[in-house]
Amino acid sequence: MNRILIVEDEQAIAELEKDYLELSGFEVTIENTGDKGLEQALSGDFNLIILDLMLPKVDGFEICKRVREEKNIPVIMVSAKKDDIDKIRGLGLGADDYMTKPFSPSELVARVKAHLARYERLLGSGVKENEVIEIRGIKIDKTARRVYINGEEKAFTTKEFDLLTFLAQNPNHVYTKEQLFQEIWDMESIGDIATVTVHIKKIREKIEANTSKPQYIETIWGVGYRFKV
Ligand code: CA
Repeated sequence: MNRILIVEDEQAIAELEKDYLELSGFEVTIENTGDKGLEQALSGDFNLIILDLMLPKVDGFEICKRVREEKNIPVIMVSAKKDDIDKIRGLGLGADDYMTKPFSPSELVARVKAHLARYERLLGSGVKENEVIEIRGIKIDKTARRVYINGEEKAFTTKEFDLLTFLAQNPNHVYTKEQLFQEIWDMESIGDIATVTVHIKKIREKIEANTSKPQYIETIWGVGYRFKV
């Protein structure tokens, strides 16, 4: 059964929404304050959240933001003010839908059903999680080919990305420049292993807080490089 959380401080509205949703076969939980709503939204096992914007203690903006950090279930935001809806859209908080009060309960039920159906299709379509390497402050998303340093995305060229990824997925292993050149450049360019040194320098500028004291890619003098774990 689909479980729905309503976070709404106007009890009459919450009850009305609940009645209509229950008639359609949903199991409904109501929370009247923002703090309780947030707690339920994060810890409870819900399939969808109907979230009012103006709430005591913690508002809907904050709840939506926090929920999105942890869950991808549909969130429908409701507000009495049309202006607020525009504001929420502008903020890109990740709500799936917006409704201005007053709305007809049957319209709400229709939207709830549509969002749940879409969400189930998404889950069932085998959307795979990205393959990610995380070592201390570095996160390398191999699928999306993106790199984040302490949560901040950094731009990498193709070869820089390939080199960093190769080293990071073989940590604690010393590679010579020749080996790295073979691995990353292969036959594409005429052998100039100085290219490796140049790329390591560029990568360090992006990932190291202090390039003269690298915390990630170590130079093993006379041998090559190693990714520290
Ligand atoms: Ca309210």
